[in-house]
Amino acid sequence: MSEIRHNWTKEEILSIYNKPMMELLYEAATIHRLHHDPNTVQVSTLLSIKTGGCPEDCGYCPQAARYHTDIEGNDLMSVQHVKAQALRAKASGSSRVCMGAAWRNVKDGPEFDDVLEMVRTINKLDMEVCCTLGMVTENQAQRLAEAGLYAYNHNLDTSEDYYKDVISTRAFEDRLDTISNVRKTNVTVCSGGIIGMGEAVQDRASMLVALATLDPQPESVPINALVAVPGTPMEDIEPISIWEMIRMVATTRIVMPQTQVRLSAGRTEMSREGQAMCFFAGANSIFAGDKLLTTPNPDVGEDMKMFELLGLNPQKPFVKKAQPETVEAVDSEYKSLGEKPKWTRPDHKIERNEEAKLAGKSK
Ligand code: SF4
Repeated sequence: MSEIRHNWTKEEILSIYNKPMMELLYEAATIHRLHHDPNTVQVSTLLSIKTGGCPEDCGYCPQAARYHTDIEGNDLMSVQHVKAQALRAKASGSSRVCMGAAWRNVKDGPEFDDVLEMVRTINKLDMEVCCTLGMVTENQAQRLAEAGLYAYNHNLDTSEDYYKDVISTRAFEDRLDTISNVRKTNVTVCSGGIIGMGEAVQDRASMLVALATLDPQPESVPINALVAVPGTPMEDIEPISIWEMIRMVATTRIVMPQTQVRLSAGRTEMSREGQAMCFFAGANSIFAGDKLLTTPNPDVGEDMKMFELLGLNPQKPFVKKAQPETVEAVDSEYKSLGEKPKWTRPDHKIERNEEAKLAGKSK
């Protein structure tokens, strides 16, 4: 086993990222085999339980209320609907359901109580449950843990420096605070980012420093390629090449050897050969289902054909960590505190995001 280091520097990570491709692939694949079965890939289904209308201004996101995109918003799904979707995901080979709500942060109240019920319901289906609900307080994270949550997703998105060019409605620090609140529970951490948003390679390395120096490192790191959605401030950004994705996956694998590296948004633009190279470079998790929240994703049947072709097997649930116990709402040790935390609202604005906001009004 290679050691887990928490003292990576940007220079070291950059020198890995920029290695000759064959050397990079060999090193990443070697480390991958020391820590994981190279023929097993974890399959998650991402479910948008509350779509659109988000008050944030993430420059890549079609769910931000201020931009003028074609997505159809919906209120919070019912527990029954979520259960039906989870059963369908299980039948098609997913071991994890990740529920996403377009919220700035979790608010105590009936909607959060419903989400807790969804977590309990899916955990009882013997599937791993993940949520991505925005910022959470420690008490909220504890309540999710009690309900049986397996993982909480909260992406750093990009480097601390470039963050200010992507989002102005919250600060990088807020992301780290939420991750630290989740870490105080037994819920695992899923946190990664997006490449291809106009950032420099240095920003990718800085983001990996921020993730790899967490102790413990995140159990799961999604690597997304920007899907440029019309109406968002990033609609005109050209897609990155597959080689950048492979370099990012391989570097992530080398600096976070035990982590599940997740191929996330942008897979529809990748060939099977490109995805196979990513698996070889250390990716061992994908999102299945025809939608990733609101952006397109390969059909699950196509993914299963790719698995067959490559001799890959979907990972069984709870292989990496035991199934959490579910505590029923009435027995909960952690009650709603009705907190109103003051998450940061930075005072800077991003010109590109402001223009996208105004563009729709002039149509
Ligand atoms: S990424 Fe999340 S927080 Fe940002 S605008 Fe979209 S839904 Fe809101």
